[in-house]
Amino acid sequence: MTDTIDSSVVASNVRIVLHNIRLAAERAGRSAQSIRLVAATKSVSVDRIQAGIAAGLTLLGENRLQEALDKIDHLGRRTVGWHFIGRIQRRKVRSIVGVFEMIHSVDSLDLAVEIDRRARQADLCQSVLLEVNIAGESTKGGFSPSAIEALLPELNALGHLSIKGLMTIPPPSSTPQAARPYFHQLRELAKSLTRPEWERIRMDELSMGMSQDYEAAVEEGATLVRVGTAIFGARDQWI
Ligand SMILES: *Cc1c(COP(=O)(O)O)cnc(C)c1O
Repeated sequence: MTDTIDSSVVASNVRIVLHNIRLAAERAGRSAQSIRLVAATKSVSVDRIQAGIAAGLTLLGENRLQEALDKIDHLGRRTVGWHFIGRIQRRKVRSIVGVFEMIHSVDSLDLAVEIDRRARQADLCQSVLLEVNIAGESTKGGFSPSAIEALLPELNALGHLSIKGLMTIPPPSSTPQAARPYFHQLRELAKSLTRPEWERIRMDELSMGMSQDYEAAVEEGATLVRVGTAIFGARDQWI
């Protein structure tokens, strides 16, 4: 792990990102309190993360289980909340359930069933988001926007899952504006999936927007933005 930027730069980046979130919320007539910043900390050292926490980070999002567990060991769970935002292998589910407040990346019914099973064994209820493959990219996992509705009764029957909303990663693009229609679609999808009869499924959270486009995401209704590079600088490797 190499760090490309200084702790003081991390601290000022945190303040800039939080400020930009407030401005974007204002533009959209939303309360800034309804948006939470999840700092994406893959490959970022504990020192840099600590500088970010001192500057106001309250939520961290990790992609890799072992890296996350090491960091949780160092940083604890009292000062900061942990979310899992990466791809999940089935055999790792047992170690993830109950450790993370929220799993953003539930990308199939099978995975949801496995998380539910492990949560039941651990006697807890795991909060999750359903990851939607919003642009129908063949290279990406996730629920298809057109197929998700038919799965909701099955998902609602999973008694140890608390489904809080949707997450998406739009196709890579060179401009922040390019992602905006996808953010809009995710919000519309969440609206169309809100039904009182599915009591375990809430659509209150929308996890969307990364360094390049989190302001557009906030304007389109994001409640969780996942930001790495804009806080910690460029990663030397993409995970
Ligand atoms: C790395 C990562 C992010 C943050 O990406 P940046 O472009 O560095 O802000 C957000 N979400 C997920 C799932 C990630 O893996």
